[in-house]
Amino acid sequence: MVVEALLGNKTRLILTLGDITEQDTVAVVNAANSTLMGGGGVDGAIHRKGGPQILEECKKIREKDWPDGLPAGNAVITTGGRLKAKFVIHAVGPRWGGGKKDEARLLRKTYLSCLEIATSHRLGSLSFPSISTGAFSYPIALASREALSTVKEFIETRKDHALKEVRFVLFTESDLRVYEHALEQVLAS
Ligand code: ADP
Repeated sequence: MVVEALLGNKTRLILTLGDITEQDTVAVVNAANSTLMGGGGVDGAIHRKGGPQILEECKKIREKDWPDGLPAGNAVITTGGRLKAKFVIHAVGPRWGGGKKDEARLLRKTYLSCLEIATSHRLGSLSFPSISTGAFSYPIALASREALSTVKEFIETRKDHALKEVRFVLFTESDLRVYEHALEQVLAS
């Protein structure tokens, strides 16, 4: 099951069921944590399948630019190692703290940081997982709306990106249904 929309006349937005590590887009986004040293969920899967080169680059980025860790809302880019994707964009989403800890703004900032990196690297395609809705416990009905509206607004207002495809890769049927519903609402608003 694939759901598609055309944004800004030239960018396909696709919702699909799958595994982020299997995607053939130029870059895939990692739902990382501040340490950039790997973890569970998407993070563990990307490092396992992509191999040690990804972690080596993450360590260098930590030493050089983020000795205290990458704060929520930010993203950095590394090689894709052995993945099909040439690059991994490591993004740190907010941990859900009940909704009064600036989570929505931080989640939007996380997606925007990825889109800015994609733009500066002239990336033609990008796959996102559902950032923050696993270990970080962000309610997926809320997160999906922030994610999709942020991407839609960026694609429609920014003229300098090279993105022909933005893919959301959902790990379960029920997550995909939630994103489909959110996409209907975002496209209608
Ligand atoms: P976070 O810490 O940002 O919440 P997680 O990796 O724990 O990140 O979870 C984010 C979402 O990604 C969850 O909905 C989880 O089910 C999903 N997920 C886990 N593994 C994969 C994978 N290999 N591909 C795509 N999505 C995945």
